Amino acid sequence: MNADKGRVLVTGGAGFIGSHTCLALVGAGWTPIILDNFCNSSPTAIKRVSELVQRELVLVEGDIRDTDLCEKTLKDHSCEAVIHFAGLKAVGESHEKPLDYYDANVLGSHSLLRAMSAASVNRFIFSSSATVYGVPQSLPLTEDHPLAPTNPYGQTKLAVENLLRDVAQSGQGLQCAILRYFNPVGADVSTRIGEDPRGIPNNLMPYIAQVAVGRRPHLNVMGNDYDTPDGTGVRDYIHVVDLAEAHVKALERLVSHDGSFTVNLGTGTGYSVLDMVRGFEKACGKTIPYEIAKRRAGDVASMYADPALAETLLGWRASRGIDEMCRDHWNWQSANPNGYDTPVETPA
Ligand code: NAD
Ligand code: UDP
Repeated sequence: MNADKGRVLVTGGAGFIGSHTCLALVGAGWTPIILDNFCNSSPTAIKRVSELVQRELVLVEGDIRDTDLCEKTLKDHSCEAVIHFAGLKAVGESHEKPLDYYDANVLGSHSLLRAMSAASVNRFIFSSSATVYGVPQSLPLTEDHPLAPTNPYGQTKLAVENLLRDVAQSGQGLQCAILRYFNPVGADVSTRIGEDPRGIPNNLMPYIAQVAVGRRPHLNVMGNDYDTPDGTGVRDYIHVVDLAEAHVKALERLVSHDGSFTVNLGTGTGYSVLDMVRGFEKACGKTIPYEIAKRRAGDVASMYADPALAETLLGWRASRGIDEMCRDHWNWQSANPNGYDTPVETPA
Protein backbone atom coordinates (compact mmCIF):
# COMPACT_ATOMS: atom_id res chain seq x y z
CA MET A 1 0.00 0.00 0.00
CA ASN A 2 1.23 3.52 -0.82
CA ALA A 3 2.31 6.14 1.71
CA ASP A 4 -0.35 8.41 3.23
CA LYS A 5 -1.06 11.17 0.71
CA GLY A 6 -3.69 12.91 2.84
CA ARG A 7 -7.30 12.79 3.95
CA VAL A 8 -10.36 13.26 1.79
CA LEU A 9 -13.93 13.73 2.95
CA VAL A 10 -16.10 11.28 0.99
CA THR A 11 -19.79 12.13 1.31
CA GLY A 12 -22.04 9.20 0.45
CA GLY A 13 -19.05 6.89 0.90
CA ALA A 14 -21.27 3.96 1.93
CA GLY A 15 -23.11 4.00 -1.40
CA PHE A 16 -22.43 2.03 -4.56
CA ILE A 17 -19.84 4.29 -6.22
CA GLY A 18 -18.62 5.80 -2.93
CA SER A 19 -17.68 2.45 -1.38
CA HIS A 20 -15.67 1.43 -4.45
CA THR A 21 -13.99 4.83 -4.50
CA CYS A 22 -13.00 4.50 -0.82
CA LEU A 23 -11.31 1.23 -1.72
CA ALA A 24 -9.49 2.83 -4.68
CA LEU A 25 -8.44 5.82 -2.55
CA VAL A 26 -6.85 3.62 0.10
CA GLY A 27 -5.15 1.57 -2.61
CA ALA A 28 -3.64 4.79 -3.97
CA GLY A 29 -2.45 6.01 -0.56
CA TRP A 30 -5.30 8.38 0.38
CA THR A 31 -7.35 8.19 3.58
CA PRO A 32 -11.12 8.54 3.10
CA ILE A 33 -13.18 10.12 5.89
CA ILE A 34 -16.73 8.98 5.21
CA LEU A 35 -19.87 11.01 5.91
CA ASP A 36 -23.16 9.27 5.19
CA ASN A 37 -26.69 9.31 6.58
CA PHE A 38 -27.44 5.79 5.25
CA CYS A 39 -30.67 6.90 3.61
CA ASN A 40 -29.79 4.62 0.69
CA SER A 41 -27.02 2.41 2.02
CA SER A 42 -25.84 0.20 4.84
CA PRO A 43 -22.99 0.70 7.33
CA THR A 44 -22.05 -2.88 6.41
CA ALA A 45 -20.55 -1.51 3.19
CA ILE A 46 -18.01 0.47 5.21
CA LYS A 47 -17.30 -2.49 7.48
CA ARG A 48 -16.53 -4.53 4.40
CA VAL A 49 -14.29 -1.88 2.84
CA SER A 50 -12.46 -1.69 6.19
CA GLU A 51 -11.98 -5.47 6.08
CA LEU A 52 -10.70 -5.32 2.52
CA VAL A 53 -8.14 -2.62 3.31
CA GLN A 54 -7.38 -4.16 6.74
CA ARG A 55 -7.83 -0.82 8.43
CA GLU A 56 -10.73 0.75 10.34
CA LEU A 57 -12.06 3.61 8.23
CA VAL A 58 -13.41 6.76 9.89
CA LEU A 59 -17.17 6.94 9.50
CA VAL A 60 -19.29 9.92 10.55
CA GLU A 61 -23.01 9.28 10.48
CA GLY A 62 -24.75 12.48 9.48
CA ASP A 63 -26.31 14.61 6.79
CA ILE A 64 -24.52 16.90 4.34
CA ARG A 65 -27.17 19.54 5.07
CA ASP A 66 -25.74 19.78 8.59
CA THR A 67 -23.17 22.44 7.69
CA ASP A 68 -21.65 22.55 11.19
CA LEU A 69 -21.07 18.81 11.17
CA CYS A 70 -19.44 19.02 7.72
CA GLU A 71 -17.18 21.87 8.85
CA LYS A 72 -16.24 20.06 12.05
CA THR A 73 -15.49 16.83 10.17
CA LEU A 74 -13.30 18.67 7.64
CA LYS A 75 -11.40 20.43 10.42
CA ASP A 76 -11.13 17.48 12.83
CA HIS A 77 -9.56 15.33 10.13
CA SER A 78 -7.60 18.05 8.28
CA CYS A 79 -9.20 17.04 4.98
CA GLU A 80 -7.53 18.30 1.83
CA ALA A 81 -10.40 17.66 -0.54
CA VAL A 82 -14.01 16.54 -0.78
CA ILE A 83 -15.46 13.88 -3.06
CA HIS A 84 -19.18 14.46 -3.07
CA PHE A 85 -21.35 11.44 -3.85
CA ALA A 86 -24.16 12.01 -1.33
CA GLY A 87 -27.53 12.71 -2.87
CA LEU A 88 -30.73 11.24 -4.25
CA LYS A 89 -30.50 9.61 -7.67
CA ALA A 90 -33.78 8.04 -8.83
CA VAL A 91 -35.04 9.82 -11.95
CA GLY A 92 -38.65 8.60 -11.57
CA GLU A 93 -38.84 9.55 -7.90
CA SER A 94 -37.46 13.01 -8.72
CA HIS A 95 -40.64 13.74 -10.71
CA GLU A 96 -42.73 12.83 -7.66
CA LYS A 97 -40.59 14.53 -5.02
CA PRO A 98 -38.79 17.48 -6.62
CA LEU A 99 -38.59 19.35 -3.30
CA ASP A 100 -36.73 16.42 -1.72
CA TYR A 101 -34.35 16.25 -4.69
CA TYR A 102 -33.52 19.96 -4.67
CA ASP A 103 -33.15 19.80 -0.92
CA ALA A 104 -30.73 16.86 -0.80
CA ASN A 105 -28.83 17.57 -4.01
CA VAL A 106 -28.73 21.35 -4.37
CA LEU A 107 -29.06 22.57 -0.78
CA GLY A 108 -26.89 19.66 0.35
CA SER A 109 -24.09 20.67 -2.03
CA HIS A 110 -24.48 24.31 -1.03
CA SER A 111 -24.16 23.36 2.64
CA LEU A 112 -21.03 21.37 1.93
CA LEU A 113 -19.48 24.25 -0.03
CA ARG A 114 -20.21 26.61 2.87
CA ALA A 115 -18.52 24.17 5.26
CA MET A 116 -15.53 23.87 2.93
CA SER A 117 -15.22 27.63 2.75
CA ALA A 118 -15.27 27.86 6.57
CA ALA A 119 -12.69 25.09 6.87
CA SER A 120 -10.53 26.46 4.00
CA VAL A 121 -10.79 23.27 1.95
CA ASN A 122 -10.60 24.10 -1.74
CA ARG A 123 -10.75 20.91 -3.79
CA PHE A 124 -14.11 19.47 -4.74
CA ILE A 125 -15.01 16.48 -6.88
CA PHE A 126 -18.64 16.31 -7.89
CA SER A 127 -20.71 13.32 -9.06
CA SER A 128 -22.60 14.69 -12.00
CA SER A 129 -24.39 12.61 -14.60
CA ALA A 130 -24.77 12.20 -18.34
CA THR A 131 -28.41 13.05 -17.72
CA VAL A 132 -27.41 16.76 -17.80
CA TYR A 133 -27.15 16.45 -21.61
CA GLY A 134 -30.82 15.58 -22.05
CA VAL A 135 -31.77 14.29 -25.51
CA PRO A 136 -28.55 13.86 -27.51
CA GLN A 137 -28.27 16.12 -30.55
CA SER A 138 -25.14 14.28 -31.64
CA LEU A 139 -23.22 11.18 -30.57
CA PRO A 140 -20.82 10.47 -29.00
CA LEU A 141 -21.54 13.08 -26.33
CA THR A 142 -18.73 15.56 -25.85
CA GLU A 143 -18.51 17.83 -22.82
CA ASP A 144 -19.50 20.88 -24.91
CA HIS A 145 -22.82 19.31 -25.97
CA PRO A 146 -25.72 21.60 -24.90
CA LEU A 147 -27.06 20.91 -21.41
CA ALA A 148 -30.81 20.37 -21.22
CA PRO A 149 -31.87 17.85 -18.57
CA THR A 150 -35.35 16.40 -19.01
CA ASN A 151 -36.07 15.50 -15.38
CA PRO A 152 -35.80 17.13 -11.92
CA TYR A 153 -32.88 14.88 -10.92
CA GLY A 154 -30.88 16.09 -13.93
CA GLN A 155 -31.88 19.68 -13.18
CA THR A 156 -30.43 19.36 -9.67
CA LYS A 157 -27.14 18.06 -11.12
CA LEU A 158 -27.01 20.96 -13.58
CA ALA A 159 -27.84 23.45 -10.80
CA VAL A 160 -24.87 22.18 -8.78
CA GLU A 161 -22.58 22.28 -11.83
CA ASN A 162 -23.57 25.94 -12.32
CA LEU A 163 -23.09 26.72 -8.63
CA LEU A 164 -19.62 25.16 -8.72
CA ARG A 165 -18.57 27.11 -11.81
CA ASP A 166 -19.77 30.36 -10.25
CA VAL A 167 -17.90 29.71 -7.01
CA ALA A 168 -14.78 28.54 -8.85
CA GLN A 169 -14.80 31.73 -10.94
CA SER A 170 -15.35 34.02 -7.96
CA GLY A 171 -11.69 34.05 -6.99
CA GLN A 172 -12.20 32.31 -3.64
CA GLY A 173 -9.81 29.56 -4.67
CA LEU A 174 -12.25 26.67 -5.19
CA GLN A 175 -10.99 24.09 -7.66
CA CYS A 176 -13.54 21.60 -8.87
CA ALA A 177 -13.71 18.46 -10.94
CA ILE A 178 -17.16 17.86 -12.38
CA LEU A 179 -17.43 14.21 -13.38
CA ARG A 180 -20.33 13.22 -15.64
CA TYR A 181 -20.89 9.51 -15.17
CA PHE A 182 -22.55 7.34 -17.77
CA ASN A 183 -23.94 3.98 -16.51
CA PRO A 184 -21.93 2.45 -13.65
CA VAL A 185 -22.26 -1.32 -13.22
CA GLY A 186 -20.21 -4.25 -11.90
CA ALA A 187 -18.60 -4.64 -8.51
CA ASP A 188 -15.26 -5.14 -6.84
CA VAL A 189 -13.81 -8.61 -7.65
CA SER A 190 -13.76 -9.48 -3.94
CA THR A 191 -17.60 -9.79 -4.09
CA ARG A 192 -17.70 -7.99 -0.72
CA ILE A 193 -19.12 -4.68 -1.99
CA GLY A 194 -21.56 -3.94 -4.79
CA GLU A 195 -24.81 -2.28 -5.80
CA ASP A 196 -27.65 -2.95 -3.37
CA PRO A 197 -30.69 -0.91 -4.39
CA ARG A 198 -33.62 -0.65 -2.01
CA GLY A 199 -36.97 -1.92 -3.32
CA ILE A 200 -37.49 -2.57 -7.02
CA PRO A 201 -34.34 -1.62 -8.95
CA ASN A 202 -34.80 1.33 -11.31
CA ASN A 203 -31.75 0.48 -13.36
CA LEU A 204 -31.13 -2.30 -15.82
CA MET A 205 -28.15 -4.18 -14.40
CA PRO A 206 -29.37 -4.58 -10.82
CA TYR A 207 -32.72 -5.67 -12.22
CA ILE A 208 -31.12 -8.32 -14.45
CA ALA A 209 -28.98 -9.46 -11.50
CA GLN A 210 -32.05 -9.88 -9.29
CA VAL A 211 -33.77 -11.92 -12.03
CA ALA A 212 -30.65 -14.10 -12.32
CA VAL A 213 -30.60 -14.74 -8.59
CA GLY A 214 -34.32 -15.60 -8.50
CA ARG A 215 -35.61 -12.53 -6.69
CA ARG A 216 -37.70 -11.41 -9.69
CA PRO A 217 -39.43 -13.55 -12.34
CA HIS A 218 -38.40 -11.70 -15.47
CA LEU A 219 -36.92 -8.51 -16.87
CA ASN A 220 -39.17 -5.98 -18.58
CA VAL A 221 -37.34 -4.71 -21.66
CA MET A 222 -38.68 -1.19 -21.88
CA GLY A 223 -39.17 -0.71 -25.59
CA ASN A 224 -37.88 -2.63 -28.62
CA ASP A 225 -38.87 -0.10 -31.27
CA TYR A 226 -36.07 2.44 -30.83
CA ASP A 227 -33.88 3.47 -33.73
CA THR A 228 -31.00 1.22 -32.60
CA PRO A 229 -29.55 -1.98 -34.12
CA ASP A 230 -31.88 -4.31 -32.16
CA GLY A 231 -34.57 -1.77 -31.23
CA THR A 232 -33.66 -1.64 -27.51
CA GLY A 233 -32.04 1.31 -25.71
CA VAL A 234 -28.28 1.77 -26.01
CA ARG A 235 -26.18 3.03 -23.08
CA ASP A 236 -22.53 3.44 -22.15
CA TYR A 237 -22.03 1.00 -19.25
CA ILE A 238 -18.86 1.55 -17.24
CA HIS A 239 -17.33 -0.76 -14.65
CA VAL A 240 -17.60 0.85 -11.20
CA VAL A 241 -13.95 0.03 -10.45
CA ASP A 242 -12.86 1.98 -13.56
CA LEU A 243 -15.08 4.81 -12.35
CA ALA A 244 -13.58 4.66 -8.85
CA GLU A 245 -10.06 4.82 -10.28
CA ALA A 246 -11.03 7.91 -12.28
CA HIS A 247 -11.85 9.68 -9.00
CA VAL A 248 -8.34 9.09 -7.73
CA LYS A 249 -6.96 10.48 -11.00
CA ALA A 250 -9.27 13.51 -10.75
CA LEU A 251 -8.15 14.16 -7.17
CA GLU A 252 -4.49 13.91 -8.13
CA ARG A 253 -5.06 16.24 -11.08
CA LEU A 254 -6.61 18.85 -8.76
CA VAL A 255 -3.62 18.54 -6.44
CA SER A 256 -1.02 18.80 -9.20
CA HIS A 257 -2.63 21.44 -11.46
CA ASP A 258 -4.43 24.74 -10.94
CA GLY A 259 -7.97 25.22 -12.18
CA SER A 260 -11.15 23.22 -12.61
CA PHE A 261 -12.44 20.81 -15.23
CA THR A 262 -15.50 18.91 -16.40
CA VAL A 263 -15.18 15.45 -17.95
CA ASN A 264 -17.29 12.56 -19.13
CA LEU A 265 -16.62 9.22 -17.48
CA GLY A 266 -17.74 6.52 -19.88
CA THR A 267 -16.15 3.93 -22.13
CA GLY A 268 -17.26 5.36 -25.48
CA THR A 269 -19.01 2.10 -26.39
CA GLY A 270 -22.76 1.66 -26.39
CA TYR A 271 -24.51 -1.62 -25.58
CA SER A 272 -28.20 -2.38 -26.01
CA VAL A 273 -30.48 -3.85 -23.35
CA LEU A 274 -30.34 -7.20 -25.16
CA ASP A 275 -26.51 -7.04 -25.37
CA MET A 276 -26.47 -6.69 -21.58
CA VAL A 277 -28.95 -9.56 -21.15
CA ARG A 278 -26.74 -11.82 -23.30
CA GLY A 279 -23.60 -10.67 -21.47
CA PHE A 280 -25.21 -11.49 -18.14
CA GLU A 281 -26.46 -14.88 -19.38
CA LYS A 282 -22.89 -15.72 -20.38
CA ALA A 283 -21.60 -14.66 -16.95
CA CYS A 284 -24.17 -16.55 -14.88
CA GLY A 285 -24.77 -19.54 -17.14
CA LYS A 286 -28.56 -19.09 -16.89
CA THR A 287 -31.26 -17.80 -19.20
CA ILE A 288 -32.61 -14.39 -18.20
CA PRO A 289 -36.34 -14.46 -18.96
CA TYR A 290 -37.61 -11.17 -20.36
CA GLU A 291 -40.76 -9.63 -21.73
CA ILE A 292 -41.04 -6.69 -24.07
CA ALA A 293 -42.77 -3.84 -22.27
CA LYS A 294 -43.73 -0.27 -23.16
CA ARG A 295 -41.06 2.40 -23.52
CA ARG A 296 -40.22 4.13 -20.24
CA ALA A 297 -41.25 7.80 -20.25
CA GLY A 298 -38.31 10.13 -20.83
CA ASP A 299 -35.93 7.45 -22.17
CA VAL A 300 -33.76 8.19 -25.18
CA ALA A 301 -32.70 5.67 -27.84
CA SER A 302 -28.92 5.96 -27.46
CA MET A 303 -26.42 7.66 -25.19
CA TYR A 304 -22.69 7.15 -25.07
CA ALA A 305 -19.71 9.24 -24.18
CA ASP A 306 -16.77 10.65 -26.01
CA PRO A 307 -14.20 9.70 -23.34
CA ALA A 308 -11.24 11.45 -25.05
CA LEU A 309 -11.05 14.46 -22.71
CA ALA A 310 -10.80 12.25 -19.61
CA GLU A 311 -7.87 10.48 -21.20
CA THR A 312 -6.13 13.75 -22.10
CA LEU A 313 -6.71 15.43 -18.72
CA LEU A 314 -6.52 12.50 -16.35
CA GLY A 315 -4.48 9.93 -18.24
CA TRP A 316 -7.42 7.61 -17.55
CA ARG A 317 -9.49 5.38 -19.74
CA ALA A 318 -11.84 2.57 -18.81
CA SER A 319 -10.14 -0.80 -19.15
CA ARG A 320 -12.87 -3.26 -18.16
CA GLY A 321 -15.26 -4.52 -20.82
CA ILE A 322 -18.76 -5.98 -20.84
CA ASP A 323 -17.58 -9.47 -19.83
CA GLU A 324 -15.94 -8.16 -16.65
CA MET A 325 -18.90 -5.89 -15.90
CA CYS A 326 -21.34 -8.80 -16.10
CA ARG A 327 -19.04 -11.30 -14.36
CA ASP A 328 -18.32 -9.02 -11.40
CA HIS A 329 -21.93 -7.87 -11.06
CA TRP A 330 -23.08 -11.50 -11.07
CA ASN A 331 -20.39 -12.63 -8.62
CA TRP A 332 -21.42 -9.89 -6.17
CA GLN A 333 -25.15 -10.66 -6.54
CA SER A 334 -24.74 -14.43 -6.26
CA ALA A 335 -22.49 -14.14 -3.18
CA ASN A 336 -24.95 -11.64 -1.63
CA PRO A 337 -28.39 -12.59 -3.01
CA ASN A 338 -30.10 -10.13 -0.67
CA GLY A 339 -27.37 -7.51 -0.86
CA TYR A 340 -25.90 -6.36 2.44
CA ASP A 341 -28.80 -7.96 4.31
CA THR A 342 -27.59 -11.44 3.36
CA PRO A 343 -27.04 -13.25 6.68
CA VAL A 344 -23.42 -14.05 7.39
CA GLU A 345 -22.86 -17.79 7.19
CA THR A 346 -21.34 -19.20 10.35
CA PRO A 347 -19.27 -22.34 9.95
CA ALA A 348 -21.03 -25.46 11.32
P1 NAD B 1 -26.01 5.59 -3.74
O1 NAD B 1 -27.41 5.93 -3.41
O2 NAD B 1 -25.60 4.16 -3.69
O3 NAD B 1 -25.01 6.43 -2.82
C1 NAD B 1 -25.34 7.71 -2.33
C2 NAD B 1 -24.97 7.71 -0.85
O4 NAD B 1 -25.24 9.01 -0.32
C3 NAD B 1 -25.76 6.72 -0.02
O5 NAD B 1 -24.87 6.02 0.82
C4 NAD B 1 -26.72 7.59 0.79
O6 NAD B 1 -27.04 7.00 2.03
C5 NAD B 1 -25.91 8.87 0.93
N1 NAD B 1 -26.72 10.08 1.10
C6 NAD B 1 -27.77 10.49 0.36
N2 NAD B 1 -28.23 11.68 0.81
C7 NAD B 1 -27.42 12.04 1.84
C8 NAD B 1 -27.37 13.16 2.70
N3 NAD B 1 -28.27 14.17 2.60
N4 NAD B 1 -26.40 13.22 3.63
C9 NAD B 1 -25.49 12.22 3.76
N5 NAD B 1 -25.50 11.11 2.98
C10 NAD B 1 -26.46 11.03 2.03
O7 NAD B 1 -25.71 6.19 -5.19
P2 NAD B 1 -24.49 5.95 -6.17
O8 NAD B 1 -24.98 5.13 -7.31
O9 NAD B 1 -23.31 5.52 -5.42
O10 NAD B 1 -24.30 7.42 -6.72
C11 NAD B 1 -23.40 8.33 -6.11
C12 NAD B 1 -23.53 9.68 -6.79
O11 NAD B 1 -23.31 9.53 -8.19
C13 NAD B 1 -24.91 10.32 -6.65
O12 NAD B 1 -24.72 11.70 -6.44
C14 NAD B 1 -25.57 10.05 -7.97
O13 NAD B 1 -26.51 11.05 -8.30
C15 NAD B 1 -24.37 10.11 -8.91
N6 NAD B 1 -24.59 9.33 -10.13
C16 NAD B 1 -24.92 8.00 -10.04
C17 NAD B 1 -25.15 7.27 -11.20
C18 NAD B 1 -25.57 5.82 -11.12
O14 NAD B 1 -26.11 5.31 -12.10
N7 NAD B 1 -25.32 5.11 -10.03
C19 NAD B 1 -25.03 7.88 -12.46
C20 NAD B 1 -24.67 9.23 -12.51
C21 NAD B 1 -24.45 9.95 -11.34
N1 UDP C 1 -34.26 -0.75 -18.97
C1 UDP C 1 -35.08 -1.84 -19.21
N2 UDP C 1 -35.66 -2.46 -18.14
C2 UDP C 1 -35.45 -2.07 -16.85
C3 UDP C 1 -34.59 -0.97 -16.60
C4 UDP C 1 -34.01 -0.33 -17.68
O1 UDP C 1 -35.28 -2.22 -20.37
O2 UDP C 1 -36.00 -2.69 -15.92
C5 UDP C 1 -33.59 -0.07 -20.10
C6 UDP C 1 -33.89 1.41 -20.21
O3 UDP C 1 -35.05 1.62 -20.98
C7 UDP C 1 -32.61 1.93 -20.90
C8 UDP C 1 -31.52 0.98 -20.38
O4 UDP C 1 -32.19 -0.18 -19.90
O5 UDP C 1 -32.70 1.75 -22.30
C9 UDP C 1 -30.69 1.58 -19.23
O6 UDP C 1 -31.57 2.03 -18.23
P1 UDP C 1 -31.02 2.51 -16.80
O7 UDP C 1 -32.22 2.95 -15.99
O8 UDP C 1 -30.16 1.45 -16.22
O9 UDP C 1 -30.09 3.75 -17.16
P2 UDP C 1 -30.46 5.19 -17.79
O10 UDP C 1 -31.66 5.05 -18.65
O11 UDP C 1 -30.67 6.05 -16.61
O12 UDP C 1 -29.27 5.56 -18.60
